[in-house]
Amino acid sequence: MLKKVDHLGIAVRSLEAALAFYRDAAGLAVAHVEEVPDQRVKVAMIPVGDTRIELLEPTDPESPVAKSIESRGEGLHHVAFLVDDIEAALAQLAATGVRLIDATPRQGAGGARIAFVHPKSSFGVLYELCQR
Ligand code: ZN
Repeated sequence: MLKKVDHLGIAVRSLEAALAFYRDAAGLAVAHVEEVPDQRVKVAMIPVGDTRIELLEPTDPESPVAKSIESRGEGLHHVAFLVDDIEAALAQLAATGVRLIDATPRQGAGGARIAFVHPKSSFGVLYELCQR
């Protein structure tokens, strides 16, 4: 049900500051930047081979990404798996007792449908399921 690692979500205080590393030092190109109001973040998508880095800058100090930066600092926020059928993937996880943050998909960056798995069920890693 999991096709590949679609992207790595990295929480940063400032996209502009982070791009000094990802774009200017590492030489990666930003595919696009967009605001995702549902998650209260501004996102920069940076392709690397056949996966991507998703930089997440909070647009609201009360947003989940802002709270994550507050408690754990900047850095790896989540790992996203590409799936063909997000409802089926969520149903399979729920049926085996996995705790979900999102029982139903919501709108993510780039028009994707996404849902998060609770890290308490996935050994400390926040996983996102992502259907394009
Ligand atoms: Zn993501």
